[in-house]
Amino acid sequence: MENIKISENCNVLIYDNIESYTTNVFLIEKKSKIFIIDTFCGTDSMIPIKKALEGKDKEVIVVNTHFHWDHVWGNCSFKENMIISHEKCRELLDKHWDEQLKKNEKYILGNAEKYLPNLTFDTSINFHDERIEIFYSPGHTIDSISIFDHDEKILYTGDNLEKPIIYVEDKDIETYIKTLKKYLDYKPKKIMAGHTLNLTEDNINQTIKYLNDLKNRCKIEFEDEYMRKIHAENYNLIHGNI
Ligand SMILES: [Zn+2]
Repeated sequence: MENIKISENCNVLIYDNIESYTTNVFLIEKKSKIFIIDTFCGTDSMIPIKKALEGKDKEVIVVNTHFHWDHVWGNCSFKENMIISHEKCRELLDKHWDEQLKKNEKYILGNAEKYLPNLTFDTSINFHDERIEIFYSPGHTIDSISIFDHDEKILYTGDNLEKPIIYVEDKDIETYIKTLKKYLDYKPKKIMAGHTLNLTEDNINQTIKYLNDLKNRCKIEFEDEYMRKIHAENYNLIHGNI
């Protein structure tokens, strides 16, 4: 695990416990609150976060960007805290927690007992004093949310953006594209995702193009086997088997 300062207010913890990708947990420190974006793979993975919070007299607020296991298993480390997600995320977690746990149990770090978000929303939540906006941004999954820090103009997108290629886990490509276009309206200075750091507006535009090509069954050339494999999975989800 690496801990890197990415801006005045934000540190990222980068975990490499899962083979094919690294996973980011963000710690955004504001005047009177600290926001933790995602909780990775269990209580042990949250020990460095807990250490970083020691001695700080600030309210800790946890955000789950979406219901996938590699973003939520450390929730039980924060039972005393507010844990925010979209209402659909809470529903999906309630339904799929045990099954996701069973399927991926080799990745559990410490304890990953079921603990659901305790504050949910539909469209958006604003922490006005902290200038943090959390908004619904369906795409990668139907329950995906994003966070915009209006002070630093940093956009945190969860898994809606990813390099070298996104995982499409919901069939509604039109909605995904709408979300990505909305991202551009924020004019973010920095863009951080669940598995990739420092994305750009170009990456958003490339992802919109990829989704359009995917929707229209265009032939796409890829640089390597990994990208071809993920694309084949995305294609199968949208169009059925190739
Ligand atoms: Zn995901």
